[in-house]
Amino acid sequence: MPPIASPVRTQAILNQYHLSAKKSLGQNFLTDLNVLNNIVEAAQLGPDDNVIEIGPGIGGLTELLAQHAKSVLAFEIDSQLIPVLEDTLAPYGNVTVLNQDILKANLPDTVIEYFGKGEKVKVVANLPYYITTPIVLDLIQNPVKFDQIVVMMQKEVAERLTATPRHKAYGSLSVIVQQLTTPEIAFTVPSSAFIPAPKVDSAIVSLVPAKPEEREQPYDQKKFIGFVRGCFMHRRKSLWNNLQGVFGKKPKVKDQITTALTDLDIDPSGRPEELAVKQFVLLTNKFHELGL
Ligand code: SAM
Repeated sequence: MPPIASPVRTQAILNQYHLSAKKSLGQNFLTDLNVLNNIVEAAQLGPDDNVIEIGPGIGGLTELLAQHAKSVLAFEIDSQLIPVLEDTLAPYGNVTVLNQDILKANLPDTVIEYFGKGEKVKVVANLPYYITTPIVLDLIQNPVKFDQIVVMMQKEVAERLTATPRHKAYGSLSVIVQQLTTPEIAFTVPSSAFIPAPKVDSAIVSLVPAKPEEREQPYDQKKFIGFVRGCFMHRRKSLWNNLQGVFGKKPKVKDQITTALTDLDIDPSGRPEELAVKQFVLLTNKFHELGL
């Protein structure tokens, strides 16, 4: 039997089950076997790896994961696809599919239940694009410490995740993601690799979580995210203006902002996109120290 992801088998499965891809759930099925092999390679999957997959669809990527990893736990929100997956993945005893919304799943408990404690866990997925950002933010802040996260997303989002200071795509998402991980674009994928073809090009991003001792740590992760988003609220305005937007314009606050920027040797007239990730962390901690 040809692989699930081959164009001929994918089309046959869609016909057999009278399925049409649901746009509202971001369903675009990968039918390029080279791309699938490259994903497995980017994730450096081996027999010790347990894999979480988000959105198995009809099982094209899942099949390859099952062939390369120890076990696969897949979360699929679309109940219509569950009987299809039971059928297509029947030859693989190391796959479990849960009919759950990944954004509502309790990953720490589920990971222990299915993989056990202290096991290596990676995430490998062709993400539903309409919720890429919340999924990535949830994964990188999850109490489960993933060894690696390899995910397909819209190319433009991949560029934002990996952008460095002074680049057009550098913004709050770049800072938040790079404070917690080292993200890299493994390769880009043309829309012709999917059925149906999405309107945008895609990219595979590999995120390797950073060890806390490798990075400057914010005093509070949630406050840090709010602070970074506030700093980028008006990209065209100076850092000084954005910080007033975050903390207010009272004379005492203005003095505190001046003190923080002077202490950290940061130019108040510069733009937020000129600051490195570490400077955002130092700044948020400094403002906290000053009681803001
Ligand atoms: N993995 C398949 C492939 O590569 O061909 C399908 C990928 S498709 C881009 C995204 C998949 O995510 C769809 O199967 C969709 O039903 C599923 N999905 C959408 N929202 C989800 C959610 N909140 N939780 C879990 N799965 C979701």
